[in-house]
Amino acid sequence: MANIYNFSAGPAVLPKEVLKKAADEMLDYRGCGMSVMELSHRGKEFTQIIEAAEATLREIMGIPSNYKVLFIQGGASMQFAMIPMNLMTKNKKADFVNTGEWSKKAIAEAKKFGTVNVVATSEKEIFSYIPKLDPKKFSKDADYFHIVTNNTIYGTEYKTIPDTGAIPLVADMSSNILSAPVDVSKFGLIFAGAQKNIGPAGLALVIIREDLIGRAPDTIPSLMNYKVYAENKSLYNTPPCYAIYMAGLVFQWIKDQGGLGAMKKRNEEKAKILYDFLEASKLFRSPVAKEDRSLMNVPFVTGDEKLDAKFTEEASKRGLKTLKGHRTVGGMRASIYNAMPVEGVKALVEFMKEFENNNKK
Ligand SMILES: *Cc1c(COP(=O)(O)O)cnc(C)c1O
Repeated sequence: MANIYNFSAGPAVLPKEVLKKAADEMLDYRGCGMSVMELSHRGKEFTQIIEAAEATLREIMGIPSNYKVLFIQGGASMQFAMIPMNLMTKNKKADFVNTGEWSKKAIAEAKKFGTVNVVATSEKEIFSYIPKLDPKKFSKDADYFHIVTNNTIYGTEYKTIPDTGAIPLVADMSSNILSAPVDVSKFGLIFAGAQKNIGPAGLALVIIREDLIGRAPDTIPSLMNYKVYAENKSLYNTPPCYAIYMAGLVFQWIKDQGGLGAMKKRNEEKAKILYDFLEASKLFRSPVAKEDRSLMNVPFVTGDEKLDAKFTEEASKRGLKTLKGHRTVGGMRASIYNAMPVEGVKALVEFMKEFENNNKK
């Protein structure tokens, strides 16, 4: 098998141990003679799979008992609509911080359901930093306050979580969930598409404080209502069974690695190797403000589009895959999620050094 490192932003690298376990269990899930994909979602095996996945997640994230964990289809983007449908129901107003494409998409959806107040944005500087927030600009009567904790495309990450007082804080954690410990009690709702740090695409994880469930009018479709998922333990209809199984294996892998504290330590170590090199390099640089740099997504540029293209092409031939930056920003981006081993980052930096030597400006 080709030895490669996959730096894709998503769908992204999964832990090898998890993929091996899934392969081992593919034809015969723990002696039942069937694949997980063939199991009834109401049978005892799958019931055990979904309950164990939730229990392990609760344990590693320290999710308080007054929060529900929901497994929902439609990826993170469906949450951009589901959140306003369920929460923008009292004053029909929400505050947003605009830190990139995923904020913008969420804002566009929310506008279909009510008034959006953008309290801060870094758009003029191509989203290269997390804007400072002025609480005086926060709406006193917002139904919720929406942030994107890690901006996958621009490589920025909140280092402190804003205090929104009594206004429920909603966080899109698609690209940094499980990368470090987080105090769930600071949030009203946390959501994440699975394909960055959790498992297969299509599944979204929603962690929601119980008092925020049941605020939607009964006229919204059942499958868009958090209450329906909560009351039916995410089994109102057939859930994405295999994706939930894979997510459960990833949660267990994280636990076996030592939990979120261990993830954070390793992620900091990996990111430091790359950022230190970028600081020292005469060819490559990071376009992101130092204090807001993401541990998960690291964009970098040479300033020369042709050289960028040459770099990604040559890197790919060396087994360093999917380093092209997002189509909206160009350059390169290395996504170094939980499952990216430190060896992968070291191999990338070695290659960058070599490329720099061969392409002196
Ligand atoms: C990838 C991503 C999304 C979109 O996820 P889908 O599952 O494709 O809808 C939303 N927000 C953030 C921060 C992301 O990284």
